[in-house]
Amino acid sequence: MPPTVHDRPRDDRGYPVPAITPWEDGRPQFALTDYQRSADCARQRQCSVCDVLMPRGPVWRVVGAAESAAIGAALAAGRPYRNLAPTLEGPGHRACMLYASMVCPYLARPNARRALTAEHPDELTAAVVRGAVRGALGAVVGFADYEFAVTGSRVLFRFVDVIEYLPHDNADAHLAELRAELAGHGGGPARPVG
Ligand SMILES: [Zn+2]
Repeated sequence: MPPTVHDRPRDDRGYPVPAITPWEDGRPQFALTDYQRSADCARQRQCSVCDVLMPRGPVWRVVGAAESAAIGAALAAGRPYRNLAPTLEGPGHRACMLYASMVCPYLARPNARRALTAEHPDELTAAVVRGAVRGALGAVVGFADYEFAVTGSRVLFRFVDVIEYLPHDNADAHLAELRAELAGHGGGPARPVG
């Protein structure tokens, strides 16, 4: 677990609660995104998981099966991937998103359940593409940067230029990569200084 995630408040089961998760009656609502917390993270460039500042440069997020397949296909064809549709899901640190992708999809993709009623909505898509492409369950994806807009009721994010694509087919796919990242030997792109 990344140290900054370790320091997060916990729910009754001991799960760390992401920065953008709203609380109701003392219980974190993992399936929802808090408007004000999300806006604060966006404006102050704070990680949506751990709430700590993200250095200038690349940011990461966890994408579901459909977006993972689209990114993988674009990269395989040598085409740039453009995420033109804004999303409610904010960015985070590489380590935080690797961790979130393995522990609980809603840590990184809190809107997934709200958008689709199935408990694990990506499984429907994954069942179709499994075996055909890598990353059938999704991917941790690094982007050169993010843009955001705070409207009256929502915080919308858009991500530009894929710089790293780490597809996963099972829950602990990124364990070795996370350990390397936490040890300071992550395989991701070098972080700019400052
Ligand atoms: Zn973080």
